[in-house]
Amino acid sequence: MKLFMANILAFLFFIPISIQAESDTLTDEKKIEWRMALYQKAEAVTQIPWYYFAAIDQFERNIHEETASKTGIIAITIPEEKWIGYTNPYRKGKQKTGMVEVFDGMGRDGNGDGFADPQNDEDLLQSIAEWLLQYGHTRQDIKTALWDYYQRELSVQTIMNIAKVYQTFNTIKLDEHIFPLPLHVNYTYKNTWGYPRGFGGRRIHEGTDIFANYGVPVRATTYGVIEMKGWNRYGGWRIGIRDIHNIYHYYAHLNGYADDLKKGQVVKPGDVIGYVGASGYGPKGTSGKFPPHLHYGMYRFNGEKEWSFDPYPHLRKWERETKRK
Ligand SMILES: [Zn+2]
Repeated sequence: MKLFMANILAFLFFIPISIQAESDTLTDEKKIEWRMALYQKAEAVTQIPWYYFAAIDQFERNIHEETASKTGIIAITIPEEKWIGYTNPYRKGKQKTGMVEVFDGMGRDGNGDGFADPQNDEDLLQSIAEWLLQYGHTRQDIKTALWDYYQRELSVQTIMNIAKVYQTFNTIKLDEHIFPLPLHVNYTYKNTWGYPRGFGGRRIHEGTDIFANYGVPVRATTYGVIEMKGWNRYGGWRIGIRDIHNIYHYYAHLNGYADDLKKGQVVKPGDVIGYVGASGYGPKGTSGKFPPHLHYGMYRFNGEKEWSFDPYPHLRKWERETKRK
């Protein structure tokens, strides 16, 4: 009976309590729905657009192996000292809301149970929301708030890019990837990760070379933002796209770019961004020093550093997935 009453009370006070009970069995689809509902609630309370909350949450999902939330719906994880305040002597877990504020902690009560609980989805979102609100509502205010919170330019940039993608497509269901070249053209590639390269001294090959004819269209493989476009003496005419999984996709040796392609532009899988070529290995405009191919590189950012990893298995997977469409 006691347990029964406790459940009733819990149901009255915590709206998404059913998430907690079900979280292990929730499908990804269901989690995405809950997530979206929580972002929209945060927007309703703060007037800060939902896609900023979504972008911060997605950024954190990409960097944590384990997140604080009991349900796994929200991935934002706030370090304990930040949550309760650095001088707070009462460590551990949830605390009465007022207590946290006394010690200048950022933990807040979003679900109205009187506690700031660092494992509760609504409390986590509310805490981030109030952090942002101190700075204001404009894009620039949000950037400043993010800089103060993360203290890293690349973290801010990644979150702002994710927000832009979510805003553009008005959804967070953007996991699709495709192969960079159209499957009907002649192309060939094999796993050359870590091979020595012919130009630029002692560098290992950080990518996969996909050989194809001059002028074959090169497509965005992912949802993301064009972060770099221009000449580099190694990569020639190249493009960098940062996606919503904290991954930077690097396309090199292009023959040219798609018309009107601009830095800062949002792309989706399949958008043509340029054409296969043999540019690079010299001053601006150098071409033909090697057979035409697309050099494809991938770099992961974990919130602290960025490093390259082998794109080959991903390209194989995207190729299979593109075939099935
Ligand atoms: Zn290469």
